[in-house]
Amino acid sequence: MGTAVEEKKASPKIEESLDLLTSTQITFKEALDKLGYSKEMYELLKEPLRMLTVRIPVKMDNGSTKMFTGYRAQHNDAVGPTKGGVRFHPEVDENEVKSLSMWMSLKCGIVDLPYGGGKGGIICDPRSMSMGELERLSRGYVRAISQIVGPTKDIPAPDVYTNAQIMAWMMDEYSRIREHDSPGFITGKPLVLGGSAGRDKATAQGVVICIEEAAKKRGISIEGARVVVQGFGNAGSFLAKFMHDMGAKVIGISDAGGALHDPNGLDIDYLLDRRDSFGMVTNLFKNTITNQELLELDCDILVPAAISNQITASNAHNIKASIIVEAANGPTTLEATKILTERGILLVPDVLASSGGVTVSYFEWVQNNQGYYWPEEEVNEKLRKNRIRAFNNVYEAAQQRKVNMRLAAYMVGIRRMAEASHFRGWV
Ligand code: NAD
Repeated sequence: MGTAVEEKKASPKIEESLDLLTSTQITFKEALDKLGYSKEMYELLKEPLRMLTVRIPVKMDNGSTKMFTGYRAQHNDAVGPTKGGVRFHPEVDENEVKSLSMWMSLKCGIVDLPYGGGKGGIICDPRSMSMGELERLSRGYVRAISQIVGPTKDIPAPDVYTNAQIMAWMMDEYSRIREHDSPGFITGKPLVLGGSAGRDKATAQGVVICIEEAAKKRGISIEGARVVVQGFGNAGSFLAKFMHDMGAKVIGISDAGGALHDPNGLDIDYLLDRRDSFGMVTNLFKNTITNQELLELDCDILVPAAISNQITASNAHNIKASIIVEAANGPTTLEATKILTERGILLVPDVLASSGGVTVSYFEWVQNNQGYYWPEEEVNEKLRKNRIRAFNNVYEAAQQRKVNMRLAAYMVGIRRMAEASHFRGWV
């Protein structure tokens, strides 16, 4: 009898409804098998080494006390301290946090950072909380996880619905607990507290560089290329702006409420001006289409930059883009990846495409450690070099091994932590 992973892999029908953790484990196993690692290595890497669940009491504005549940996962620290964002969302769950920490390990491996992967999350809806409640929740989370985090242990950062202000509260709380200023405890901070120039736009910049490299491989010129972006938050809105400024025609964007389409190109500056802090803008328009219709628009480049499980076996046959670059985490299922690859669509996977954020987070941590800060041009130049190298490493691995870009990215990302675990004598 095979393992659960092997059994699920055998059935594409079951595969389609796999949770994030199982599909991540399937691809981890496939990558390790291709690289010739033992079953023991898979057993080591198939889940985080450490997973902390905390309950956080928060005094609400109406005088009541509400309990919140939070998590911190540390996947593998063989290479160095773990690193990864903290997500505030009503749908955060333990397996999602575990999977995201494993993806962070891959991202750090792909872009060659001296970190393993970590991730955190709190089950909450920040859209219905006051600033005071959010501050008390952020500080309470840091008190609850303070024993296992720190500049040389595990370094948090922003993720969905967390931002520079939340990072500032968390850094302040940690510094008070440790009784010294600790800017290197967290990244994505405001500039005046040791943030890095260019961090807010880094994920989008990183995706743009992947789009440029992918377009070169496919002989598509960015000038005039028709681009569709799902999601108009931190990643999606900056990305749409960069593509627009580079001469591409952004013909579709969306948010949680719906999507906008104009085959002649949308006025991105106008939309950026009007979007709210949660990335909503379509509520101001009457003529909208659905997110599903947006994904199937006739275009050259499609960028899912919102949530997971958007391209599945049910719509993968209808996608018209010739390049898909995943800015979001997990927007495409494994079965859809297979269909898109068979159709000859170049799919640049999330663990490669969205690793610009953690790259500049690393630059922020380095600057904090040395107490010397770089101008934005220097940050962007270092980011560009790093990304071009990472993209081409994965692209070449895919060509040489005759595998799709997702499996190639997993192989590139996993190799270093497997080697480091081996050298440490863990396996
Ligand atoms: P965000 O919260 O700033 O924006 C999310 C956007 O997605 C908003 O426009 C929101 O309206 C839209 N959205 C939410 N639910 C939706 C739905 N059901 N259908 C369509 N759109 C929906 O988040 P972000 O920071 O831009 O992150 C977006 C994605 O990129 C996430 O998957 C995140 O994990 C990934 N990512 C972000 C970063 C980063 O630095 N921001 C780094 C790596 C990966």
